[in-house]
Amino acid sequence: MLAAASPFGRKEAFSLLKSLSPKRRLIPFEAARLLATGDPMVWETAAAMARAMREQVFGRRIVLFAPLYLSNECSNNCLYCGFRRENREARRITLSPEAAVAEARFLEKKGYHRLLLVTGEHPTRTQPAYIGDVLRAIYRETKMRILHVNAAPMTVDDLRMVKEAGAGVYQVFQETYHPETYAAMHPSGAKADFAWRLTCMDRAIPAGFGDVGIGALLGLYDYRYEVLSVLRHAEHLLEAYGTFPHTISVPRFKKAFGSPLSSAPFPVSDAEFERIVILYRLSVPSAGVVVTTREPAALRERVLDIGASQISAGSKTDPGGYAEGRRRHEAEQFEVDDTRPMEEIVRRVLAKGYLPSLCTSCYRKRRTGNTFTEMAVDGHIRDFCLPNALLSLAEYAVAAEDATLREESLAAAREARKEMEGSPLLPEFDRKFAFVLEGGRDQCF
Ligand code: SF4
Repeated sequence: MLAAASPFGRKEAFSLLKSLSPKRRLIPFEAARLLATGDPMVWETAAAMARAMREQVFGRRIVLFAPLYLSNECSNNCLYCGFRRENREARRITLSPEAAVAEARFLEKKGYHRLLLVTGEHPTRTQPAYIGDVLRAIYRETKMRILHVNAAPMTVDDLRMVKEAGAGVYQVFQETYHPETYAAMHPSGAKADFAWRLTCMDRAIPAGFGDVGIGALLGLYDYRYEVLSVLRHAEHLLEAYGTFPHTISVPRFKKAFGSPLSSAPFPVSDAEFERIVILYRLSVPSAGVVVTTREPAALRERVLDIGASQISAGSKTDPGGYAEGRRRHEAEQFEVDDTRPMEEIVRRVLAKGYLPSLCTSCYRKRRTGNTFTEMAVDGHIRDFCLPNALLSLAEYAVAAEDATLREESLAAAREARKEMEGSPLLPEFDRKFAFVLEGGRDQCF
């Protein structure tokens, strides 16, 4: 497809880009042609359209979440990862369910309601029963509202078990969709099986996961090939199951302690990274496009203007790292670049005119899978995103220790409430909002 894709002329590109909407997304061949187009004016227009597309689907809200690393023990040998089995310098840690609860409590105090649990792949340390135990323990012992899981590919029965323990989104990144590069990067361990990983969502969705997350690790192979493969994967899920992936993550290679790959074989520049975010947004309008703290602060702020809709904040990638407090390179999966704390991220998101959201309602109100995809494309999800963002922001503000941040957050929420004028949800929203200001929690639509 890449070889056959000719660049767009400016006029043709403008006319196509201006015709895009959640119901008329960029199809993969058009994405390939856009990737072949170098004209900066075309990309400026594409960036504006990507931002508009995100706002048509989700409004101005930007979802915040934190990863919770459960274990860095792994039987695989991925060349780019600090958790790899042959990293003899790594300090190995697997959190007990109690220790995972302690981490979740720490993050709960910071204001998070959704966490992404992350594990390496180890046959006896991080097996599905362990993940289930951790999920149940955190739900039981904390008020965390939704837990997503990033773990190795599993059988349908194991996936069903993890789902039944309360997992929201199930995330697996193919890393690279290029088979030869995949074989070189994953020389041993269960992860060496390309097809088992590629078909993972074809087991997860039948096992009950309406919401799945995919992605490629940028930098291992030609990013244009990877991006088009991610889009093809997304189209496959739509064709086969009626649902787009709930999230598409945009991780870029980072040097990891004790890994043999010191730099990306196919480096992706910041400008290319931005184009990738734009393409994902225009091609899969309903997806949460996720940019993590791997990326530098300035780039993370920029991608908010061009279609990203979810960001992690204040992350640690070593198991137990939140409670530990100090940095432990020898236990990390990769180096975090944006080390700003959650409070600063909230402040910056507000300053840029967006609404930081800690909402978890769709997972809990069964707006998932193909229901979510259809509602997002029809423009109905944003009707929920706005009130839910404001309620979660108000709850965050009321609990905030920083009085200035509290006032800034509440002022932004009150101002944005005006956008709800005429909404049938407004009377109920006002009641819930007043309840939250009095210290009430967990109000949503
Ligand atoms: S309403 Fe749904 S889509 Fe919108 S922020 Fe909440 S959970 Fe996400």
